[in-house]
Amino acid sequence: MADRSPSEIARETFKQLSLKKLAPTPENYQALYHEVAGTLPPAHFPFDRLRQISAALPAKNPGQQKQCGLLESAISQRSWEGVQNALVGYAGFGMVAPTVSDSGLAPLAASPHSNPALTPEFMEQIARLIDNALPALGTDDDRFLEQARELLAFIRQPVPDLPRTKTMLANFSHRLSFTAEDQAEIKIVLLQLLHLVFTNIGELCIDDQWLKGQIDALMEASTPPLSLRRLDDVQRRLVDVIAKQAEAKTRAHEAQTQMRELLVAFVDRLSLMGESSGVYQVRIEECARQIEQVTSIEELAPVLQSALSATRSMALDTQNSREQLQFMRDKTEQAEAEISKLHLELDRVSAQARHDPLTGALNRRGLDEAIQREISRAMRKDTPLCLALLDIDNFKKLNDDLGHEAGDAALTHLADVTRASMRPQDTLARFGGEEFVIVLPDTGLELGVLALTRLQRELTKKFFLRDNQKVLITFSAGVAQLATGESGVDCIKRADQAMYLAKRTGKNRVLAG
Ligand code: GH3
Ligand code: MG
Ligand code: MG
Repeated sequence: MADRSPSEIARETFKQLSLKKLAPTPENYQALYHEVAGTLPPAHFPFDRLRQISAALPAKNPGQQKQCGLLESAISQRSWEGVQNALVGYAGFGMVAPTVSDSGLAPLAASPHSNPALTPEFMEQIARLIDNALPALGTDDDRFLEQARELLAFIRQPVPDLPRTKTMLANFSHRLSFTAEDQAEIKIVLLQLLHLVFTNIGELCIDDQWLKGQIDALMEASTPPLSLRRLDDVQRRLVDVIAKQAEAKTRAHEAQTQMRELLVAFVDRLSLMGESSGVYQVRIEECARQIEQVTSIEELAPVLQSALSATRSMALDTQNSREQLQFMRDKTEQAEAEISKLHLELDRVSAQARHDPLTGALNRRGLDEAIQREISRAMRKDTPLCLALLDIDNFKKLNDDLGHEAGDAALTHLADVTRASMRPQDTLARFGGEEFVIVLPDTGLELGVLALTRLQRELTKKFFLRDNQKVLITFSAGVAQLATGESGVDCIKRADQAMYLAKRTGKNRVLAG
């Protein structure tokens, strides 16, 4: 058959078309022609499918319209290369942004036709999502990290295979769920461990009120929900506790050594006294026996002499003992002085800590650190930061009327109520006697004033109770928002001026600085 001429083959093809009752379309003709000629048909070109795809492509901008036109003509010309060029050109005109419908709302879900599937941008978004999530999931699970790396490399290819991407994403997400669960569990167990450590430290220092207070605060600060600020607070308190414990240990050790020395000296002395009084006893008994036997006054003289000398030596021993005891007393006093010096030293160390022992609020040093930290954070995140300064009204009178101890309790009460009404990210510090500073991150001036006004209200609800008597504590406050480039000290100064004005204009009010 191979040597038939093309016209013979064409004739035969038409014959077959009519015999097989096939429509004389170019496709049918072509297929039969090759059957008759015994040759291979050229690769099938899916006109219909391609035209369907071309019709489904949205042409929302001139670029896309042009590429759709080029695609149509490439299909007509059976040009795979033309089809490829037109599609690549089309992709260059980007995804269609969701259009705003007539109602003014963006459509909830774009139709599959208007949303090209996995663009390189979309894949890059997924890759970045994985990249960013990895540090949060720890670096302990090698297999998980390996899987993540493989997935990242795969989806960052120019044209990743869709079904394989799907499988890999599904596998990764499966493993991710386990890793995330593990991380959550590790966090819980670590917290429990931390609590255990705090409980143990707390039991070791039952005698020290300051330490006990700090431990309670640690327990509270390490209770979920955790935040970086709270963990920071836990860390600072722990540093203080460790410093104080180290001091306490040295103090206890020194006191123990002194006491041991004293005890040894005392026991020595006691045994010496026992010995000398034993000798005296024997000599006096001997004298008594001799006195019984004397018959004349002359014989009595030497016996009395002997008794006298025994008594004298006893007096001497007693004198010695007194001197020794005096020496020991001096030594004890010296040890006491030493210990009280250590106490003073300890107080100095406590003063260097970051928390006020009475109220548990930060002290000046702690406040400086907190302000520094919050200023950096505010600058980094470009968020507002407010500092509020409050001063209790007529506190001197409260002290005069109810006593200094009641004054102390009132300060603690104010600190407790303030802490309860603050957000977890806010910080309370004792600025001076009856003055407090509140650091309010992510807070503009208006909200800062509102927060302090809310605290005023809280204080009218939660009375300070003294001898079953309700005592109303009020304060005057100034609030200032940190200006660009302003230092914490200057910002507090502005808050202080506003507070002063609040005092001048009648007290019990909050003013913006
Ligand atoms: P104002 O309304 O103008 O603020 O009057 P005030 O009486 O509150 O202010 P003033 O500065 O005259 O007095 C503050 C008092 O606070 C004086 C001081 O004895 C007392 N104070 C300071 N620190 C403490 C403390 O730790 N405990 C107690 N109980 N009182 C303190
Ligand atoms: Mg004051
Ligand atoms: Mg005051």
